[in-house]
Amino acid sequence: MEYGISVPKFKLAASGKEAAKYAVEIGYPIVLKIVSPDIIHKSEAGGVMVNLKNAAEVSSAYKKIFKNAKKYNPTAKVVGVLIQEMAPQSTEVIVGALKDPQFGQTIMFGLGGIFVEILKDVNFRIAPLTPDDAKDMITELKAYPLLKGYRNTPPADIDAIADILCKTSRLVMDNPEIKELDLNPIMAYQKGAKAVDARIILE
Ligand code: ADP
Ligand code: MG
Repeated sequence: MEYGISVPKFKLAASGKEAAKYAVEIGYPIVLKIVSPDIIHKSEAGGVMVNLKNAAEVSSAYKKIFKNAKKYNPTAKVVGVLIQEMAPQSTEVIVGALKDPQFGQTIMFGLGGIFVEILKDVNFRIAPLTPDDAKDMITELKAYPLLKGYRNTPPADIDAIADILCKTSRLVMDNPEIKELDLNPIMAYQKGAKAVDARIILE
């Protein structure tokens, strides 16, 4: 990404043959994802297949993704299939941006899954963010102790997450036409963090 947010290696395949070739180039295990402007929630549409370990699995997942997409939305335009490096499992966090009619670009931070969806444990700040703002957004979360490390969950790289928050702030400040942005999830590791999914909605 131009703003220096790390992402897994990826390639866009337009055929099953290309998918097989790119899988080898990127290296197993890999992830396949539908790429369609008409399918925003890819896994809801059966459009995400993770941990594919060989050519046979890639070939059958490729077909299945198209079949699922067709069932989900028969008129969806499909651009291709994204072949992505499989990121190791870790604590999943979410960075979002939203253009508020009154306050302008606003940055959101939370932990993935139930933390955002059920507990609504998220923090907001108006952009632009200073590095201190970014740190506060993380440490003021109710679930922050989880990020600091808890039982068998190792501590996450807080500086790497704060850095992504600042880069996201810069990205939306530089591009005021962005109405909504979601990096969901970001895999937070003991060292570094990687955004494995991004969604941007323009005005
Ligand atoms: P969507 O949000 O559109 O359903 P995602 O790209 O977020 O699709 O994929 C759904 C889930 O699959 C993610 O929340 C994550 O848990 C997992 N996932 C996606 N891409 C990867 C990847 N490259 N490595 C590991 N897990 C992934
Ligand atoms: Mg996602």
